Amino acid sequence: MALKNKTHDIEKASIRQRTPPQHQSAVKDHQRPMDPVTALKLATSAHPSALRPADILSLQRTIGNHAVQRMLSSHPHSRSHSSATPANAIQRQTEGEELLQAKFAPVQRNAPAAPAPAVSPAPEIDQGNADLWRQRVDAAVRAQFGLSGAALTTGRAHFVNQGQFAAQIDAADMPEHLLMLFLDPPPGSGIHDILRRHHQSFSGIAELRTFIADRIAVNSFETSVVDPVTRATVVQTITPRELLAANIGGLAATRGPRAGRSVLIQIPAHIETLVHEAVHFYVHTRFRDWANQHPDDLVFGFRRKTLLMEGFAEYFARQVMETNSSVFGPLVTRAYQPLVERVWRVVITQTEQLARDAYFKGDTAALSRLKQAIQINEQTHPDLLVPAFMIP
Ligand SMILES: [Zn+2]
Repeated sequence: MALKNKTHDIEKASIRQRTPPQHQSAVKDHQRPMDPVTALKLATSAHPSALRPADILSLQRTIGNHAVQRMLSSHPHSRSHSSATPANAIQRQTEGEELLQAKFAPVQRNAPAAPAPAVSPAPEIDQGNADLWRQRVDAAVRAQFGLSGAALTTGRAHFVNQGQFAAQIDAADMPEHLLMLFLDPPPGSGIHDILRRHHQSFSGIAELRTFIADRIAVNSFETSVVDPVTRATVVQTITPRELLAANIGGLAATRGPRAGRSVLIQIPAHIETLVHEAVHFYVHTRFRDWANQHPDDLVFGFRRKTLLMEGFAEYFARQVMETNSSVFGPLVTRAYQPLVERVWRVVITQTEQLARDAYFKGDTAALSRLKQAIQINEQTHPDLLVPAFMIP
């Protein structure tokens, strides 16, 4: 699953917060950074300049240098505008807001984004070029990881508009997709409004699952918006399918063997969304089954299934994007950044081949070693890397 909104990775930091705080004794008190959530709020507020160097360093550790640079440089109130920020990255975020605002209108608009800088945009998938991109991406994924067997053929890749996307989401997968959306709501998604409207606050994933199942049963979420003119609160409803289609750009149905799988892509789409779903398409059933065991356990502060399915898929997707950057263009959404970093920290101490053998081939020895590597890394201080010789 791939979310549409590039600011998705900001929200990941709030989950990351559940991991033990990093040791700060070397930092002088006046430089002690504020907690990452507060720093994030400030970075995305009207006054990012209030961030001190120590706060920015802390943010960079939490969500990565690029994410922080992008956040500060793409800020609507920022005077300078980084030419590295693709025009359509900002546009896409605005589109996401518009989709919901069309649904929940009338709502107060946020300050408009700064004018798009004149840079060549990353390529996008649309109806006219979708099959060409499917071929390119499938060939690239197969070449990168040496894959053979059933391919992501025309019949297994569906490129659709938002309404069709909503209609075609597999009903059996809806609870899982909604759970991921509620655990990690992108800004502008309306999720917080929905929770307020339903008076929900959750202490555990099980309760959230129950809430989602109840709302799927009645096919509706309520949300309240304030009319900017009359100041009256207006209650509106959105179906679970509409909510997912407004926020998710791609899905992969990976139950069963590869020949029976498919991907669903909402167009227009960024190339990396298709690459991410293509990597899901090629996951081995044994790796996927492993990820589905105890899905809600926390590993490194992340939900276990999300780390294994999304973290590994995006980790491999980044490699494909890097290898093919001259054709596929730059990363735009950078989905699941904190998960990718966590996967990288486990894989770097093993071997790349071990991770590939586990994910794509379902090699039982590689899976077993990867499981142990994750387990021993989890028991170790987050700043330390566990060398391969420590895995029995
Ligand atoms: Zn995914």
